[in-house]
Amino acid sequence: MKKFVCIIIPVLILQNLIIYAGTGIETQGESSRVSDFISDLSGNTPINGKHLPDRFTLKNKKIARDYIVERMKELGLKPLRQEYNSSGENIYAILEATTSSNEYIIIGAHYDTVRECPGANDNASGAAFVYGTAINMMQLENRLKNIIFVFFDDEEKGLRGSRSFAQKVKDDNLNIHSVHTIDQFAWDSDNDRAIELELPYDGIMDVYRDVLKENNWEVPLHYSDVPATDHTSFRRLDYRAVGITEEYQNGDTTPYYHRPSDTFETVDMEYLEFGIKVFVKVLIRIMEK
Ligand SMILES: [Zn+2]
Repeated sequence: MKKFVCIIIPVLILQNLIIYAGTGIETQGESSRVSDFISDLSGNTPINGKHLPDRFTLKNKKIARDYIVERMKELGLKPLRQEYNSSGENIYAILEATTSSNEYIIIGAHYDTVRECPGANDNASGAAFVYGTAINMMQLENRLKNIIFVFFDDEEKGLRGSRSFAQKVKDDNLNIHSVHTIDQFAWDSDNDRAIELELPYDGIMDVYRDVLKENNWEVPLHYSDVPATDHTSFRRLDYRAVGITEEYQNGDTTPYYHRPSDTFETVDMEYLEFGIKVFVKVLIRIMEK
């Protein structure tokens, strides 16, 4: 098994260089930024001197939000806040298409946790997935649709944040192409890099299949019927939505779910980076449609 890994890794690295040369996307520095993002949000490293024990209390959620806002600004985005009640606030930013388009793709993940859980997997990993995707998309020369990056509050309290955001884009009458939410993408104990799509809308599974095939990434792609996260908030308003996750339904998922042991050390960065890479290619494909 080890030998197999040793041969595969250099091939993958070479392949990535070629692929990214073709799309104009640079990966240098991205991986450490994504890793730092999870480390800081999950309290492994301090934010302004404070190690976050969770992102549950109002105080801790505010620290997390301010941190996300800073990271988005650093990228050159203009983060906005949607304060939907006195204890809940989403953060989002719009990346405009490089050509004229009235269509929007929403990419989101929740940043809140349950009480006394550092939430590295659930869901700093999903938030970092959104952040890593934003880094890549900022560098893309041709973006044929607008993208909204959003960090939801209160997923753990009945999807309140995403429900409010879905209602907002409806009220704003935005032309939404599709919604992609990420929840828990950092555990892969069998190293098969499997991707699970939750209640995928028509056609999206084929796009993943094509991207995986074209890049010779032989990884399992699973269908899941788990509705219990943010994509559901958009589906109930009739938007096309899909959830992206580790093998949550298929059984290779973090054993530290909602526990104080959901820490940074348990995060499989290589798997997370692979997921971002696949997703970026999927996005490029669906922007062309
Ligand atoms: Zn979650």
